Amino acid sequence: LLALTILGNNSAIPAYGRNPTAQVVQTNDENYLIDCGEGTQLQLSKYSIKRSKINKIFISHLHGDHYFGLIGLISSMGLIGRTNDLHIYAPAPLEQILHLHLQAANTTLPYQLYFHALKEEGEIANDKKISVKAFKVNHRIECFGFLFTEKKNPRKILPERAKAYEIPEAYYGELQKGKDYTTKKGTIISNEDVTEAATDARCYAYCADTIYDETIIPKIKGAHLIYHETTYLKDLEERAAARFHCTTVQAGNIAKLAGVEKLLIGHFSSKYELLDDFLAETKTVFENTELALEGACFKI
Ligand SMILES: [Zn+2]
Ligand SMILES: [Zn+2]
Repeated sequence: LLALTILGNNSAIPAYGRNPTAQVVQTNDENYLIDCGEGTQLQLSKYSIKRSKINKIFISHLHGDHYFGLIGLISSMGLIGRTNDLHIYAPAPLEQILHLHLQAANTTLPYQLYFHALKEEGEIANDKKISVKAFKVNHRIECFGFLFTEKKNPRKILPERAKAYEIPEAYYGELQKGKDYTTKKGTIISNEDVTEAATDARCYAYCADTIYDETIIPKIKGAHLIYHETTYLKDLEERAAARFHCTTVQAGNIAKLAGVEKLLIGHFSSKYELLDDFLAETKTVFENTELALEGACFKI
């Protein structure tokens, strides 16, 4: 399982029942939280996503609509007696902000909080099933996107075939790596005869808040799923640029140029009540687009 659930999709101010930005990448073992706008805790419980399975939180940048829910979540985790380590990956100034909050409340958390300041592009987390890379995007303040890549599964053994060739089980690890087997008589059993290819490693790119910027294309090229902001409809391209945001058509262009499979759009301006035009406009450029609606879960 590798899936993405949307918790918040609005920009700046909560509006029309929409919450500021937060999403969660889910595997069987862990929940990876991306951004944590105000209201994220309530959204987590609304969509039955376990706080206890969140061990890593990724904050793209320090505009409030992307992290004002974080101190609440951190304190709640303490109040319910969490003991597992929590890792936060974010631009450097957030460490002081969190520290001041905790200090002013004379709070000592019952778990270890590790802060990792984002500086350079590159791998920031490397777990059993997933690797996470940060990449820079072009916004009004320092801002990062995140690339989640599933680790490539080893090849699958076909046990009946392997037994028929009398391959010892001790050699199965080598078969999974793709090696052939040589019998005692010197016959070579081709790996393809006794294994099958694993499923493709899936990849999700969260492109955060950004101005239209084609330099991110090589960083997200070929991803299976990307999220790209569409703060405005296409008629407000000038305003979008002035505020370091994007329009529908621009997001569609990025998805098309990067050759991705599917595009999710969000970070809608609070001036819009209805979202139908966002979808229609983006689809004119990139057909496989969906709205990042709250509560929606997308298989990556
Ligand atoms: Zn924002
Ligand atoms: Zn922003």
